[in-house]
Amino acid sequence: MQLMEMEERLIGFDTTSVNSNLEMVDFLESYLKGLGMQVLVDTSPDGRKANLLATLGAPDTGGLMLAGHMDVVPVAGQAWDGDPFVLRPSDGKYYGRGTADMKSFIAQAIQSVEAIRHRKLTLPVHLAFTYDEEVGCHGARHLMDELQRRDHVMPKCAVIGEPTNFKVFRLHKGFSSARVTVTGVEGHSSKPAKGANAIYQAALVIQKLMEVEEERKGRRGMEDLFEIPHTTLSVGMIEGGTALNIIPNHCEVKFEYRTMPGEDTAYVLNQIKGYVSEVLLPAFKKQHQQVDIQVEETGRGEPMITAQGSEIELLDLELTGVARSGAAPFYTEGAIYNEAGIPTVICGPGDIDQAHRPNEFITEEQLQKGLPLIGRLIERVCMS
Ligand SMILES: [Zn+2]
Repeated sequence: MQLMEMEERLIGFDTTSVNSNLEMVDFLESYLKGLGMQVLVDTSPDGRKANLLATLGAPDTGGLMLAGHMDVVPVAGQAWDGDPFVLRPSDGKYYGRGTADMKSFIAQAIQSVEAIRHRKLTLPVHLAFTYDEEVGCHGARHLMDELQRRDHVMPKCAVIGEPTNFKVFRLHKGFSSARVTVTGVEGHSSKPAKGANAIYQAALVIQKLMEVEEERKGRRGMEDLFEIPHTTLSVGMIEGGTALNIIPNHCEVKFEYRTMPGEDTAYVLNQIKGYVSEVLLPAFKKQHQQVDIQVEETGRGEPMITAQGSEIELLDLELTGVARSGAAPFYTEGAIYNEAGIPTVICGPGDIDQAHRPNEFITEEQLQKGLPLIGRLIERVCMS
């Protein structure tokens, strides 16, 4: 299958994270088996989705892993000029959901393996395609657990083809999220002292979060690598109260924060937990014994840190002609692969500015550029 034909097929699967991706997995499984690859389909706990690991060459040795996610972000509410799941060429660009993020890399990786499939490999090449990257990287985690459970030999290095315009990234921040739930006591708004206002307490939590945010801003590092060289924090959602004249007995605040490599990914959360248990809750309880404030972590992803000077970093820099690697301004599965002991860099076609937007596209130039690059990468890691 030619690159464009594969691209068209892949864009045609509506693999929005909320949907099943099994149709795409079935297609790839039979296609890759047809190329002589060994295929492992790793099904999600609910059975609706799957990861796919396809291997060309001896599976009992390390090798190069070309990795990407199959899911895409929703198109609902976005103004597209055409069907997002039909590849649409125009003016040297190809439009469609997933063209940048990141089915073009998947098409290129498959095409590159197809081109070398009759040559002799000293180390295997793996294609690792995952589900649910966009909603918490659940697929990559499941795949690594499954490989460890099977005592599978881990790849010796990996490239994730997220859209970087073929720049090379070896670092990114962590991504953590949390929820604060305040339980107060209802009452008539004309008699505030009879109740316990949950929204007021939530406001104090937010104020504390803003203080922690300021404090983290003062702690900068790796300024040459990160556009925003400090941990960031954002309160994204708040919900509470039922009517103007009722003292609210419930308020929920959700926040996320992105931790710089080298810092503790629980730092922000622990600051809030400490403040709530030592300061806020004791004072709140004086208003009413039935009140409560719960702080829960809802997600935690470690930063990605691939050591400077790793074999895969140097090789990717050489092949792309990029002078030095940098830090990705987004979270990836690379942190999970690194944790599994696989040195990983991020380098792929397309522009992250296109990702998640209506009329997402990839340029013809970025589409074609990947093939020789990935081909040489396979040669250098798997054939020398
Ligand atoms: Zn992506």
